[in-house]
Amino acid sequence: MKDSPAIIILGQNSLPLARQLTTALPGAKLYGLSERTTGVDVSFTNFGDTLRELFAAGTPIIGICAAGILIRTLAPMLTDKRQEPPVLAVAEDGSAVVPLLGGLHGVNEMARQIATVLGVEAAITTTGDIRFRTALLSPPKGYHLANPEDAKKFISDLLGGATVRVLGTASWLTEGNLPIKADGNLLIQVTEKSVELTGNCLVYHPATLALGISGVSGVSVGEAVDFIQEMLADAGLSKKAIAGVFSDDAQISNSIIQAIAQNFHVPARFFNNLEIKAGHDIIAQEAALTASGVASNLIASKVSPQITCCISISPEIINPETLGRSRGQLYIVGIGPGGQQWMSPQVKEILRNITDLVGYSTYLNLAGSLLPGQKRHDSDNREEIARARLALDLAATGRKVAVISSGDPGIYAMAAAVFEVLDQEANPKWDSIDIQVAPGISAVQAAAAQIGAPIGHDFCLISLSDILKPWSIIEKRITAAAEADFAIAFYNPVSKQRTWQLTKAREILLQYRSGDTPVVLARNVSRVGEEIKVRRLEELSEEEVDMRTLVLVGSSKTRIVPRKDGGVWVYTPRRYDIDG
Ligand code: SAH
Repeated sequence: MKDSPAIIILGQNSLPLARQLTTALPGAKLYGLSERTTGVDVSFTNFGDTLRELFAAGTPIIGICAAGILIRTLAPMLTDKRQEPPVLAVAEDGSAVVPLLGGLHGVNEMARQIATVLGVEAAITTTGDIRFRTALLSPPKGYHLANPEDAKKFISDLLGGATVRVLGTASWLTEGNLPIKADGNLLIQVTEKSVELTGNCLVYHPATLALGISGVSGVSVGEAVDFIQEMLADAGLSKKAIAGVFSDDAQISNSIIQAIAQNFHVPARFFNNLEIKAGHDIIAQEAALTASGVASNLIASKVSPQITCCISISPEIINPETLGRSRGQLYIVGIGPGGQQWMSPQVKEILRNITDLVGYSTYLNLAGSLLPGQKRHDSDNREEIARARLALDLAATGRKVAVISSGDPGIYAMAAAVFEVLDQEANPKWDSIDIQVAPGISAVQAAAAQIGAPIGHDFCLISLSDILKPWSIIEKRITAAAEADFAIAFYNPVSKQRTWQLTKAREILLQYRSGDTPVVLARNVSRVGEEIKVRRLEELSEEEVDMRTLVLVGSSKTRIVPRKDGGVWVYTPRRYDIDG
């Protein structure tokens, strides 16, 4: 669950109230409906999508609006109350604070904080059992409740006057206001052991076990996981008490170790020079002990020719995020042509989870605002290679980095630049990075969608920029494409320095195609200032075209269909027997 809330406003007159709320909620971000608010941290156009995305990401939501619209908007997503972030409605005049969802994640506490700032009473609607419930059903980080299904009855028994005995140590339990008695009739157990679950005992597994792994060779993920499960079973340990998977730095790109960590839903972390310190045979053991700290003990191990695993136990909760380093991630991301509605959910998810954002400033702005803790690395549009190197270097230190392109990252954009640098420079530092390319809607698709279906049949893309390739090649491609009767999308058609190329392209095309061929000039598609014009090939002029324009030239079959509203559709039929 993320901690920094989003305060949502739908009109400018809610801004002062929203600002007042931030005093109770440090780190909160102001989200404002774009056409009705200014001076907010994040502007959004679609209320429903924005709200649902925040909710899905676990962000606490404070809507300065009617409770009803929050409920209706989130209704389809209300499936598991244990996963719900706090959601509150605050009346526009600050007269009411109503906690709606997220009872297990502190919505009532949040409502009280806000109410205090506003000088009103929070409209708490849950009964007095909330104090036990919050503690028991959503234990602090590092503790896992093994039997949440038993908790409801357990809590009502407590409220009915039962007392509880606590076995094991956890200060959050003993320092709370539970009716603890040495001879209590209910039981709470805090243990790394796997225990049989019964209704009158709540079991919490503390994240005190470090799983060290080494000597991985010729084993599948399934076999490795089974092997570890057996080791745990033999030692009577619960897998829910594993805090992390640990190994030597040299193993950082070992995909089996990464997959094991994923299987147990914990991070994989790697320590420097364990092999040198410990010797080859006991790397797993050394990794586990390094993670669990000075006062720890080795409590299980299992060795085969294919994998060595060890478990050590710490007297404290282990926080893996502070130990060694993780494998770096590099996401090469396409944010689409501009508007949020044309950015894929996968990309949005990636952008929520990264630590660093690398890209050309204009695209970084389009990608949306940063979350707390995220770092932005702006660069000039021309420095693609330097940008790729920077992204790789950052990821090599274990950070989660996204390098951003507009449209699709694989089309005249950063993906090829990153792979070019990887290929040409082959820096061993980069070997451990996990690289993922996340596609986006390219300018040609966006432009086509706005005008109909101009690429409904065979088409090709040609960049008119002769910075990275000689003009002679471009000319050859235009000629071949014209001859082959492709519809052609010209990327980078004109820039301040390059003006004659488009005119030259038109001349070549006119040797093969009629002057009446439809041409679409799509400028700033799905961005502010979008403009779509349809011209005839004969009229195509660089005067009407710039770097923010995609030029789409039809094939001999491309047709114009008048629209009732006075505009036109442009489409290219899928068949060759329709008359042009
Ligand atoms: N990776 C991008 C293309 C980068 S090349 C993509 O897949 O869309 C840059 C060229 O793309 C621009 O010169 C322009 O021709 C085109 N382009 C990119 N975004 C555009 C947009 N929103 N509207 C119109 N053309 C765009």
